[in-house]
Amino acid sequence: MVTASPPTLGVVGGGQLGRMLAESASPLGVELLVLDPTPDCPASPVARDQIVGDFDDEDAIRKLAERADVLTFEIELADSNVLEAVEAEYDVPVHPDPGTLRMIQDKLVQKRTLKEQGIPVPDFRPVDDRDDLLSAGEEFGYPMMLKARKGGYDGRGNVPVESTEDVDAALDEVSGELMVEKFVPFERELSVIAVKGDDEITTFPVGENVHEDEILRETVVPARAPESVRERAEEVARDVLSVLSGRGVYGIELFEGENGAISVNEIAPRPHNSGHYTIEGALTSQFEQHVRGVLGYPLGATDLRSPVVMSNVLGDVVDSQPADLSGVGEVLSTHGASFHWYGKREVRPLRKMGHVTLVGEESGTEPSTADLLTDARSLTDQLTFQ
Ligand code: ATP
Ligand code: MG
Repeated sequence: MVTASPPTLGVVGGGQLGRMLAESASPLGVELLVLDPTPDCPASPVARDQIVGDFDDEDAIRKLAERADVLTFEIELADSNVLEAVEAEYDVPVHPDPGTLRMIQDKLVQKRTLKEQGIPVPDFRPVDDRDDLLSAGEEFGYPMMLKARKGGYDGRGNVPVESTEDVDAALDEVSGELMVEKFVPFERELSVIAVKGDDEITTFPVGENVHEDEILRETVVPARAPESVRERAEEVARDVLSVLSGRGVYGIELFEGENGAISVNEIAPRPHNSGHYTIEGALTSQFEQHVRGVLGYPLGATDLRSPVVMSNVLGDVVDSQPADLSGVGEVLSTHGASFHWYGKREVRPLRKMGHVTLVGEESGTEPSTADLLTDARSLTDQLTFQ
């Protein structure tokens, strides 16, 4: 496993996920080569090298394949067709499977695939025109969630439809192929970071995700849900993995509905924002697990070290501007707090710029996750770009 010439992991995408992947690959003696269109992307200072090119730039992906022992991606915009082609041509394994990526890229195909396999998902329908949306409204009732099938992230591409009067405005807001879902009146949003290794599957403890404006603010672990609900969430996550092919980390977003019923919101075929807590909070981080998984190494232990809260540092600005952050000293001087900066030069409204992790005390009275959440939130609230 450890050899004189270190294995190179080729990664499509060099954002914060690529940066944290490179950070955790280093102790294992694994080097990263990232492909990203932005020169000096977040991953570039910690990766061995960057190829500057688009996520679907065929020549650039070929260059990546030529130099890599294994290929993976940290962004769903990776081109599944090109990855499939280079996998055969260059005889370089791609994990997760390009076919899995393709299935996940289209939210409608993803939901259909899960449903066919008996995995619980909210009711959904394809939407080709206004009539489809109106008739879904009759069937599902309002509100509903109209979604772009492809390319959405951080809630962009999703529009709640409150009533029949809202239908036209909602359709104007999203473009491309569409689908609609019944609105789930959830108790909590949960997620499970699940990992496929060569011959094994592991799951991290269930996280509870606090969203605001459809964007992830905080992840609380363990989730403050009854144990039976957490067990069910993990069971559903394992069922989801059985549908997916290819090794690596998957982030599985779930709704805890009425009476603890679990349904799947969506799958990310990569490390997930709600798994950042694992860096300080678990025995192995999701990023190290991904490296181990895609290279076919044995997976690490996923136990929690202590209760933990991760809080996103989002752009608190109205316009784009150079990213000068103040308030970091307070985080650094707080016991159990860690700060992660993604190295983005420009801050934009609600852009993910970094995160704060707060772990519980190792000894003495452990703070409740509710206390950790309050403290992590107030630390993050003091961070400002203004
Ligand atoms: P991400 O924020 O993970 O990048 P995304 O932009 O692909 O995701 P979704 O995960 O589909 O968007 O939705 C974002 C958020 O919108 C969810 O976390 C949830 O809060 C809300 N949401 C989505 N679908 C539904 C639904 N059917 N019922 C209720 N809320 C929903
Ligand atoms: Mg989501």
